[in-house]
Amino acid sequence: MTVIAIDGPAASGKGTLARRLAQHFDYAYLDTGSLYRAVALEAHRTDGDAIKAARNVGKLNLTDPEIKSESTGGMASKISAVAEVRAALLDFQRDFAAHPPGNKAGAVLDGRDIGTVICPDADVKIFISADVETRAKRRFLEEFGAEGSDADYQAILAELIQRDERDMTRRNSPLKAATNAHLLDTTNSDIEAVFEQALKLISDKMTTT
Ligand code: C5P
Repeated sequence: MTVIAIDGPAASGKGTLARRLAQHFDYAYLDTGSLYRAVALEAHRTDGDAIKAARNVGKLNLTDPEIKSESTGGMASKISAVAEVRAALLDFQRDFAAHPPGNKAGAVLDGRDIGTVICPDADVKIFISADVETRAKRRFLEEFGAEGSDADYQAILAELIQRDERDMTRRNSPLKAATNAHLLDTTNSDIEAVFEQALKLISDKMTTT
């Protein structure tokens, strides 16, 4: 079983990279942010109880279109600081890595604490980042396309700055690179270049183990 852990801040390109790698190696892929997002959305739409929603994560719809919005991302970042929410999602993530669906030979997980907490023994750990303006521009284009205004961009930038701060400073499983993670900066690289870099890291690692 091969496990690839990809961590990084919001809109760093980790989802795109993780999906590409999973496709390339025919591994299963888990976007762990979508778990926190689905939990936040469920709690927001019902009784506000994120712990209860997290305990029922298997029943939540991870493909609800509302999940992707930056406002859901902001809500997710608030409930993700709650220790009981993280604990409730831990087994789901570890189980996915240990038994990837579809009998795949490996799994790629992306998030904030995959290399540090969820899969500390992952075969390859990548920490991907980019400066916050670049990430805000990417998220702005994804959400608004050509229709967005400067005010929309500024709002996204402010949300990302707040979200980074919350994710990096929370007590439980803060966003940080594992000591043995490979660092990739995507500020000036397109996804193709980042994908090639990651492939090289992974194949170097596989041939030395
Ligand atoms: O990666 P994404 O932006 O979808 O994550 C949404 C929020 O969920 C993050 O800002 C973070 O607070 C939380 N999260 C987390 N741990 C993970 C994945 C996401 O705390 N492994």
